[in-house]
Formats: sequence, C-alpha cells, structure tokens
Amino acid sequence: MGKADLHIHTTASDGNLSPDEIIDLAQKHDLQIISITDHDTIRGYLTARKRAGSTDIELLPGVEITCAFNGRESHLLGYCFDPEDDDFLRLLSQHKKARLSRIGWITEQLRNQGLEINREEVKAEAAGGNVGRPHVASMLIKKGYVQTAQEAFIRYLGDQALGPIESNYISYEDAIKAIKDAGGAAVLAHPGVLYSDEELEKWVDVGLDGIEVIHPSHNYSAQKKFNAFAEHNDLIVTGGSDFHGGNKHYLKHFGTVTISVNNVEKIKRLSRQRKGISV
Ligand code: AMP
Ligand code: ZN
Ligand code: FE
Ligand code: FE
Repeated sequence: MGKADLHIHTTASDGNLSPDEIIDLAQKHDLQIISITDHDTIRGYLTARKRAGSTDIELLPGVEITCAFNGRESHLLGYCFDPEDDDFLRLLSQHKKARLSRIGWITEQLRNQGLEINREEVKAEAAGGNVGRPHVASMLIKKGYVQTAQEAFIRYLGDQALGPIESNYISYEDAIKAIKDAGGAAVLAHPGVLYSDEELEKWVDVGLDGIEVIHPSHNYSAQKKFNAFAEHNDLIVTGGSDFHGGNKHYLKHFGTVTISVNNVEKIKRLSRQRKGISV
C-alpha cells in the first residue's frame, strides 16, 4: 500500500523549501499522494501542481486555516476543496491581511520590551509568502536577540510569552463551513495536548469531517486515543509530517511520518459527494 503525507509547508508560508523542491523530495521518498497545506494560502499548492503534473505524484488541494477557538488560535486542515471557489479565495485573502496586522501587533509588543523590530522587516523575511511567527523568529536570530527559533518562541513568541494574541481570524465554525462549502473536507490539525475531551466534542458538534491522528507531536498513546475518538465519531483519519524544511527537528519526519493512501480515498469520496460528482 502506498504512502501519503497530508501535511507539508512551503515558502508560500513558513516552510523553507519551495513548492517544486517539495515535489522533488516527495519523489525521492516514494510518496504516492501528498498535500501542501500552507498557512492560510494555496499559492504553494498552485505552483507545485505544475511540477507534480509531470510526475506520478498525486497532489491534493490542501490548506491549514488558522481560526479562533475558545479564545485562542487553532489550526484546521482543509482538503480537496475547489481551489477556484470565490468565497474560499476571499477568505484566504482576508487571512493574509489578518496575518500581516497580527505581526504588526506582535512586533509592537516586542518593541515595548525594547527590541528593535518592525512589521516591514518581517514581511520582507517572508519573501512574498504568508507571514507568521517563524519569520519573526528568523529576524530575532539575524539581529542577535536569540540563537534559535526555539529560543525565540520560548522567550518572545510562544502563546505563553505573548498571552492572548490580537488577531482577526474567522471562528472555527465558520472555518469548517468555508471548507465544506468549497467542496472540501475539514480536518482538525495536530490535536495533541491542545484540547480537552469536551473541546474535541465541540469540533464534532459543528461538523468536523476528520482528525489528524498521525503527526510528529503524537506519541503512540495519543495516536490510540485519537483513533478511538475518530472511530467513535465517524471521523476520517489523516496524518502527515508537518514538514517545514530546514528546521532539523521537522526535516527528519519527511517520508517517515505518513499514512496509508486508503485513508485518502475517504476524503476524495466525501469531496466528490459535496461537489455533486457521482461516485
Ligand atoms: P503563526 O502562523 O504565526 O501562528 O505561527 C505558527 C507556526 O510557528 C507553526 O505552524 C510552527 O511552524 C511554528 N511554531 C510554533 N511553535 C513553535 C516553537 N515552539 N518552535 C518553533 N516553531 C514553532
Ligand atoms: Zn508552520
Ligand atoms: Fe499547525
Ligand atoms: Fe502545519
């Protein structure tokens, strides 16, 4: 049975490899199906589609949407939506702007602590991709404030260091609806230690389709727990490496943290139903 990796980032958001480099790497690792799931953008997917077309790799439309859940930020994966759906593209462009103003707020907090950093520098660091905290971390390293991204997150950028981050992301209910309305499947990303049992139920109550069971942050007992949760709630099981390139920690999971391609069939079937395509 072939291997699939349904969670990969590129330079279109905070990954370090280009979309084309991802396709080449996927070929090298003999992956049959992959999905590029950049933060709030499908630009990486659109670019990679051309390269994938000349290979045997099947590239699924994918995205990792940031949304508001219980007063904090959450990640929701979307698969097999229509990449030309106007409403969906509008949501992504709204979130691109939300990311930029959020980085403005974050850099303001850092300036209040005496660090010299501004939004424009961080935007340049993202080189046209969607901005995120990893780009702030890179700037802090360049300026000598910290040695590593990990240190940047612990001292300045992590949820604990920043407190509730000011942002304008849509709610988790609306994020699920947006993915489904565009004919896609909505999957909760890396639940890990992020949610209580009651909180997991909330996602199911508003129509979640699937849950990411296989992820580098999940140990065996987490996988077991989320598998049981998926079975109990009739959710599709997905997984992937959450590869960001460059970063040694995540680099080692490309090609190894994968799921079997038959899980992907369920996503495709659901999407065909939603788009009204006969199965
Ligand atoms: P943002 O999109 O701005 O919320 O940034 C979230 C991203 O930052 C995640 O997708 C990871 O790539 C990265 N990240 C989160 N926590 C850490 C951490 N402790 N160390 C390094 N990178 C992190
Ligand atoms: Zn990321
Ligand atoms: Fe994530
Ligand atoms: Fe991710």
